[in-house]
Amino acid sequence: MSDCERWDRAVAAISDGYAAMSPALRAEVDAAAHAVRHARRELHSLAEDRQCTAICASCGGECCVRGKYHATVADILVFLAEGEPIAVPRFESGLCPFLGDCGCVIEPSLRPFTCITFNCDLVEKMWEPERVEEFYGRERELRKLYEVLQESFAISAGSALRVSVLGFLER
Ligand code: SF4
Ligand code: SF4
Repeated sequence: MSDCERWDRAVAAISDGYAAMSPALRAEVDAAAHAVRHARRELHSLAEDRQCTAICASCGGECCVRGKYHATVADILVFLAEGEPIAVPRFESGLCPFLGDCGCVIEPSLRPFTCITFNCDLVEKMWEPERVEEFYGRERELRKLYEVLQESFAISAGSALRVSVLGFLER
């Protein structure tokens, strides 16, 4: 099965699982997804900095080359709960399927956990210690929110927790 087929089937299964949730569970998932999105926005704005943006632009997104497995079931749930169209991957490039000509095609508040929490040394060494501390404090908060979201879905679908979309139907 191709990556494209694996992705489409997994997204369809996750969408079906979300649609089949009880109203109470869906409300829980929606609240957790909304909180995840808000936390990602906060993390992204904390990481944003004119100098760092310039470094990333000149690097061209080296950390995005191997992002194929970053998107998880929880990330798809955030798209669904927030009523956002699910990002369409392009697997043919062999790079991260969401890496477009001008960088990531997914807006920051919808990017996978790994993407929103990773900063390489080049970037991090530009930060003052207080910013590093705040960033990782918020990262821990985001991690907890993911756990709430993932557990909510696991209750519904009987599935395991942090699972890549591409591996979802192959466990
Ligand atoms: S975080 Fe580092 S590796 Fe990733 S795009 Fe920026 S400079 Fe490049
Ligand atoms: S999803 Fe976006 S940020 Fe994450 S690895 Fe792919 S291109 Fe980079």
